[in-house]
Amino acid sequence: MSSCALNAELPVASPEDLATICASVRSGATPAAVRVEAFLARIAQHDGVIHAFNEVHADAARARARAIDKMVASGRDPGSLAGCVIAMKDNIVMREGHTTCSSKMLANYRSPFDATAVEMLYEAGAIVIGKTNLDEFAMGSSTENSAFGATRNPWDSSRVPGGSSGGSAAAVAAGFCDAALGSDTGGSIRQPAALCGCVGFKPTYGRISRYGLVAFGSSLDQIGPFATTVRNAALVYDAIVGSDARDSTSADAPCEPLAPLVDRPLASLRIGVPREYRSEANSPAVAQVLERAISAARAIGAEIIDIELPLTDIGISTYYVIAPAEASSNLARYDGIRYGHRAKLSPGDDLEDLYSKSRAEGFGPEVQRRIMLGTYVLSSGYYDAYYKRALQARRLIKEEFDRAFASCDVVLGPTSPVAAFPFGGKTDPLSMYLCDVYTVNTNIAGIPGISINGGFADEAGTRLPVGLQLQAPAFAEETLLRAARMLEIALA
Ligand code: GLN
Repeated sequence: MSSCALNAELPVASPEDLATICASVRSGATPAAVRVEAFLARIAQHDGVIHAFNEVHADAARARARAIDKMVASGRDPGSLAGCVIAMKDNIVMREGHTTCSSKMLANYRSPFDATAVEMLYEAGAIVIGKTNLDEFAMGSSTENSAFGATRNPWDSSRVPGGSSGGSAAAVAAGFCDAALGSDTGGSIRQPAALCGCVGFKPTYGRISRYGLVAFGSSLDQIGPFATTVRNAALVYDAIVGSDARDSTSADAPCEPLAPLVDRPLASLRIGVPREYRSEANSPAVAQVLERAISAARAIGAEIIDIELPLTDIGISTYYVIAPAEASSNLARYDGIRYGHRAKLSPGDDLEDLYSKSRAEGFGPEVQRRIMLGTYVLSSGYYDAYYKRALQARRLIKEEFDRAFASCDVVLGPTSPVAAFPFGGKTDPLSMYLCDVYTVNTNIAGIPGISINGGFADEAGTRLPVGLQLQAPAFAEETLLRAARMLEIALA
């Protein structure tokens, strides 16, 4: 893929305050319809190159904007996200349009219902502008595994946007929407946010209903927002958080609105920096941004504590047993009969052929690899050696975080060991999996994590955004977001 100087042509989204924008729509000063038109024009102009969207829902977005403006005109309040324009990862189901998971398997699939997160966004007055590209079934770290072509990074179109929610991250970074939703099983919100220079927030497992999120690794999957600032991410999070009777794993924990709180600095902040996160494997750009952030945190009075998380190392092997095991079971439903692509049969073919041909044609190579890996680690004779051991490792990783949080409020490190890499830069699966070294353990432990833009640095002669990750104990979203906001302001 050739590079074009989008940096000059495509100013990235400005960190406008979403609460202020929505207040303006609620007061009638800014029509939602005008906002939608501006985003549609920008998408029409630039998404041919970026390919953040699988599908743009122009008519539906316009109709929704008109309905919101009518509500305002008649004196009703559309809600906290009135006129907020959202891009939706294409593995979150909506009645509108298709839900493809960027897979041939679901290329023509239409959902008969909206995901709970989508319903809640509508109730808050938000407008969904389209479905964003991803690595097929959310498996990957570059969006190159999409069956419909890769998404390009708005900062340098010769580079990947990260993945699997690369389309959502690129859409926010390119200013195609106010915010986006993604899903994060092992880093798929935080890593693309880091590579595209925006904020990506994965809440505690169970905080946001998974009802209507196409399942990948059900014990790890979590929906979360992308936005241009921590404040804006908090506003979107507030609209979709909460327990849901339709997702038995959704948490019944208190969830007061956090957007009004994020600007309150914490009176004291202890930031743990694991020795393992200052690894030799980090690129020079990443290492430089991390050290700069540590100095900035010290300068605002945070206490920096050197900690150790020695199990960081086993995260990848643990994740790449558990996630494929769960995926192999979740993806069994795509059999050419109940859902998705059905192969044409030849005379003499039987039911077994229907299954195997449909699955071989419908799933791409990475998805097939994960299904085989997952089936293998769950098969009798190997179950104890792989799956059971991975569950034991999971427990140890969780306990290690518990110990770390006894001495600090949040853990800081890079989101990804490298900034955005060129297309085709990681062809063997293991080198791609290693992109997730800092993000998978968050999901394994079920704790919340956020990636913010730590600044820009030169990587191989190109100026690229570098993400910083903060992690906090389960359900400590308030601490996490307030600390992230403090760091965001300190680095601005
Ligand atoms: N990159 C990781 C994977 O390929 C994480 C994906 C995700 O979080 N959905 O599995």
